Amino acid sequence: MFILPPQVEFALNKLNFAGYEAYIVGGCVRDILRGEAPSDYDITTSAEPEQTKAVFKGERIIETGLKHGTVTLIKDGTPLEITTYRIDGDYTDNRRPNSVKFTKTLTEDLARRDFTINAMAYSKKTGVVDAFGGQEDLKNGLIRSVGDADHRFNEDALRIMRALRFASVLGFKIENETKKSIIKNRNLLNNISVERIATELVKLLCGKNAKDIILEYYKVLEVILPEIKGMQGFDQKNRWHIYDILNHTALTVQNSPATPVFRLTALLHDCGKVDTFFVDDNGVGHFYGHPEVSNKKAQTTLKRLKIDNATSDTVLTLIKCHDMPIEPTKPAVKKVLNRLSPDIFFKLLDVKRADNLAQNLELTKDVLVTIDNIEKIAKEIINSGECFSLKDLAIGGNDLINVGIPAGKELGKALDFLLDAVMNEKVENEKQALLGYLSGKM
Ligand code: ATP
Ligand code: MG
Repeated sequence: MFILPPQVEFALNKLNFAGYEAYIVGGCVRDILRGEAPSDYDITTSAEPEQTKAVFKGERIIETGLKHGTVTLIKDGTPLEITTYRIDGDYTDNRRPNSVKFTKTLTEDLARRDFTINAMAYSKKTGVVDAFGGQEDLKNGLIRSVGDADHRFNEDALRIMRALRFASVLGFKIENETKKSIIKNRNLLNNISVERIATELVKLLCGKNAKDIILEYYKVLEVILPEIKGMQGFDQKNRWHIYDILNHTALTVQNSPATPVFRLTALLHDCGKVDTFFVDDNGVGHFYGHPEVSNKKAQTTLKRLKIDNATSDTVLTLIKCHDMPIEPTKPAVKKVLNRLSPDIFFKLLDVKRADNLAQNLELTKDVLVTIDNIEKIAKEIINSGECFSLKDLAIGGNDLINVGIPAGKELGKALDFLLDAVMNEKVENEKQALLGYLSGKM
């Protein structure tokens, strides 16, 4: 089961040969035991950083965090983090230990790690070192704190988000005591930097169990995402909606492709509903203007979480447009393709699918068929190179200036007019035809 890459073997052997203990540790051991390929390998060793540096003299070494005991060895292009067995000192800020102390005992190093499934080490000589029942928890699909959960979340509250993230990504449950402690200590997340929270949140959202985690740990998410408050139990009073806003949102997340753009869009697409709710005389609920309000609230969220601009811009556009009706006709589809660009257009269809799948399927099944039709039409338009933007138009500004249309507003209007005519199939997208059509209308 444990077939290690040659670079890892090299590092472990070198350390052993120099008289030190060395193991692979943490996420890589967990992943190998689950039968998955680890994304990277971390090594833990009894050698202190200066000793590790001496062992790898002549190799490429980066002093990643000497104070915390970490040296990175780059072997054949692969970075390997080698960290000295370590006991973390006191934590006073729910974030980082005030000091770290090196130790000669592997189990002391394992004890500082967050969850039992992440607190195992392995070496060829010793096999798996599992002092906290990690293998058992792995088998049962459980995230459990190493030691007293309250104590561990108080030390570093990011572990709260890590627990949720691992549960979502691995499809695990959080063990009961650990769960209770997470709920109890959730406000400690206010002490954690947004960057660290955002990284975990995005991974959580992209996990296969995101829906269950959102529903079960909504209270925790509210702490870091005040914009999603008020969704739980919110009856939409509308026959299209058989779920409250929270269940609808969680289902939409689950139905969306597992990438940050889609999952963030799904999480936030209806956050403006609680602010726009209106019940008409027949007792039917409406949310007029909610996409704009969701968009505004999502701007605040994404900015606070420091989500990169490209992701943010796409998410905000998708939220704003998620409820926009699109007719399944060529001219209508071309108009939207022009406005959004094909990439965003196809993403929008995926958002709409996920959204409709999380409603009353009796009613939305027809909508879903229409979305498929729209997609077919859009693909046809693009594959056959049909014109849907000014840059596809067989005529440009200069052509119109040459026939005497003055540059400026009038020119822009004439081009838009011609594009509209081409998209509505009133005239062929061909230069002479367009000039003729324009002069006929002037
Ligand atoms: P991933 O698959 O995301 O890399 P991982 O478990 O390897 O998961 P890392 O953040 O790479 O996570 O951390 C490596 C190891 O360091 C963890 O497995 C765990 O043992 C330990 N660790 C990381 N963060 C913490 C933390 N906040 N508190 C305690 N231990 C931690
Ligand atoms: Mg890792």
